[in-house]
Amino acid sequence: MIHINKLNFSTLGITIESELYSLRDDGFIEDMGAHIEKVFQDGFGNLIGYKEFTKHIPRIDKDTPPAVYMCIHRKGEMERKYVIFYKHTDALSEIYRRSHEETHVLHHIGQIALLQEKLNEVSVQIDLMKYPDYDKCSVYERELVANIGSLYALQKNGSDVATILPEDNCVYFRPAIRIYQGTLKNKTSVIKKITKFIPFNF
Ligand SMILES: [Zn+2]
Repeated sequence: MIHINKLNFSTLGITIESELYSLRDDGFIEDMGAHIEKVFQDGFGNLIGYKEFTKHIPRIDKDTPPAVYMCIHRKGEMERKYVIFYKHTDALSEIYRRSHEETHVLHHIGQIALLQEKLNEVSVQIDLMKYPDYDKCSVYERELVANIGSLYALQKNGSDVATILPEDNCVYFRPAIRIYQGTLKNKTSVIKKITKFIPFNF
């Protein structure tokens, strides 16, 4: 019997039905290192290859990462199970981290066009379709896409994305902030132009 999974990308407002993929959001985790190990152990049934796996988890410094997505794909099984989780800090960081990992998963399963649709809806002119294939993207491009997803989610949740200072944020986040804010500026100038032509006296 075919089982259809519902993947809920909650901060992005995207849901997908798939028999190939599933998505589990474990939410906010105190001990990231212990949880990475637990997800691996539960997913594969053992810790063979765990050390090798942890080497590929991107991290900013020697600490455990503040947010992670993991893909559990057992040999011989069709389904790829994605698990995302993050360290708890403040409300804004929570939206940022959750949406960042959601975007990585969306990108990984070849569905970044769905985020492109969301950006189009709010007139953010960024072409994510330049990066359709996660596996062919550089780490820089993957992070850029994920951070654009985060900025979209922050904006959607009512944050004033235009006021985020790139220099207050880590170097990995800055390019996305600049690109995203650039499109917001364009939007404002378009609105101003239109306003000029509104005949107020009519
Ligand atoms: Zn990332």
